[in-house]
Amino acid sequence: MKISRHKKVHRYLSFYSNNYGFRQPYQVLIDGTFCYAALKNKFNIKEHMPKYLDAEVKLLTTPCVIIETESLGHTVFGAMIIVKQFAIHRCGHTGKPVPGSVCLKSMLGSENSSRYIIATQDRELQRAAREIPGTPLIYLHQKAPTLEHPSAASERIAQIQNQAKFHVSKEAGNLLTSLKKQKLGISTTDTQEQRKKKKNKGPNPLSCKKKKKKSSVETVKQGVIKKSRKRKRVKVAEHVKEHLINKAKEHCNTN
Ligand SMILES: [Zn+2]
Repeated sequence: MKISRHKKVHRYLSFYSNNYGFRQPYQVLIDGTFCYAALKNKFNIKEHMPKYLDAEVKLLTTPCVIIETESLGHTVFGAMIIVKQFAIHRCGHTGKPVPGSVCLKSMLGSENSSRYIIATQDRELQRAAREIPGTPLIYLHQKAPTLEHPSAASERIAQIQNQAKFHVSKEAGNLLTSLKKQKLGISTTDTQEQRKKKKNKGPNPLSCKKKKKKSSVETVKQGVIKKSRKRKRVKVAEHVKEHLINKAKEHCNTN
């Protein structure tokens, strides 16, 4: 169970890294409701958040969140103590504090360009965060922290961006081919034809097997045939030669 949960966290975080440029240390923006639930469920945020995300994290809050928890009095006193432990990010509401959820929404803006991870139990803020593409959301499910599956808005925008990237690369490819044609007089179709022509010349001689040498039997046979074509030299014995010469002489004399 634990391994599969970590795999999920890893997968979701790499989704945000690949599509929305999230980098470590991740900035986790925490509100009073999350601190309250953490205290109630004995979840030590400082200790367990980096372990859960298996990454370096910066735990952050805003002046408005602190003011809100202070104003709620003793019921959330423990939560206020916890929230004050975190680094405070300026929110732009100095002198005019707003409710924590409103403040955090304004921190996210329309596209969460500062790449915050929102940690909240506030249902309204969770809904708002899901609408902003590239906003990871963490809440506590009793004791267990849960990084929510990327929202539909996050996935949709990531898909559109990826398609746009592909489109650009395709256009770049077309531009390159047209430049080749113009500047170098090379066209891809020509080179393809050339390749085909080369292929038609025949197989690569290096890749071919050497021709078999004629077998010794064949050479012997051929030698026999050649010999048979040659004039046969007939050896004649000396006494036969003499006899023949004499006969020839006699023949000449009679003529
Ligand atoms: Zn604020």
